[in-house]
Amino acid sequence: MKGKYIYHPVKNFGIKSFRIKILLIFILVLNTGLIYPQHQIPRISITIDDPTADSADVLSWHQKNGKLLKTLQKYNIKAALFVCGKRINSIDGFKLLDEWNNSGHMICNHSYSHSYFHSKKINAEIFKNDFLKCDSIIKKYSGYTKLFRFPYLKEGDTKEKRDEFRQFLFNTGYRNGSVTIDASDWYVSSRMCDTLNINKDFDITPFKQYYIEHIYSRALFYDSLAFQLTGRKINHTLLLHYNVLNAMFLDDLIVHFISKGWEIINADDAFSDEIFSSQPDILPAGESLVWALAKETGKFDNILRYPGEDSFYEETGLNEVLFNYYSKKNINNSR
Ligand SMILES: [Zn+2]
Repeated sequence: MKGKYIYHPVKNFGIKSFRIKILLIFILVLNTGLIYPQHQIPRISITIDDPTADSADVLSWHQKNGKLLKTLQKYNIKAALFVCGKRINSIDGFKLLDEWNNSGHMICNHSYSHSYFHSKKINAEIFKNDFLKCDSIIKKYSGYTKLFRFPYLKEGDTKEKRDEFRQFLFNTGYRNGSVTIDASDWYVSSRMCDTLNINKDFDITPFKQYYIEHIYSRALFYDSLAFQLTGRKINHTLLLHYNVLNAMFLDDLIVHFISKGWEIINADDAFSDEIFSSQPDILPAGESLVWALAKETGKFDNILRYPGEDSFYEETGLNEVLFNYYSKKNINNSR
């Protein structure tokens, strides 16, 4: 099918337009992701936030663990798991973490309470204690890695809070476990699960398609922005969450990225990219690291929305998924 797409627009030019033909083929091949020059291969790693042993879901945590770990093993990928302490502070929670740790994945800190650091009620001192409470839980694991991911990617609403916590991370030997590709997989998953809870026979294929297109389009956006900022292809960290959607379709997502010419790398390789040592000087601080670096330049305000990603950007698209499904069903039923 890809050959067809490349062939048809080009053949109409005739032999005299040979140079244009070659140029068009090159552009089309690049756009379809078939070839990247070696130094321009986009690389992406998987990071997963908020594992939870709560099994009141479409899939139990055993099932989610099984599917996610199987997929990562299939592609021989090591991910970074960002643990929010309160969600795994139970016998089942520790079993869940054991399985990730024993599979060789990184076990990282995502706070204990998942507090919103931009709240006026959360000062740096409260936030530090909450961070330490999670650290004391995860430090026993061999995969324990001193990377901290801010809940909601909010790094501080004032200069004082932002800089005090940056200094604290440095003093404790931690680094910011930044996201470069942010997205709203959590919202797609919650809409899919809500739908399945009402109608267990719902064909979830449109949710899978929406998810893959959504994540890939955000990846292209942040990769393009990163290239404009740095003049090179950076190593990406993709933010995903521990949910039913990723358990079911992470394999399909990985296949999609590979088909577009991306290389899937281990999370620790990604975090070795020098971009992760940058500390953008913006307020409020946070969002995707690429978003924050772009904001800092003041040159991209026409394309930077705030927040970078959120449920309301996806609401209309997901409403359409449901509308199309039920419209089709009504047509079929009336035949
Ligand atoms: Zn989180």
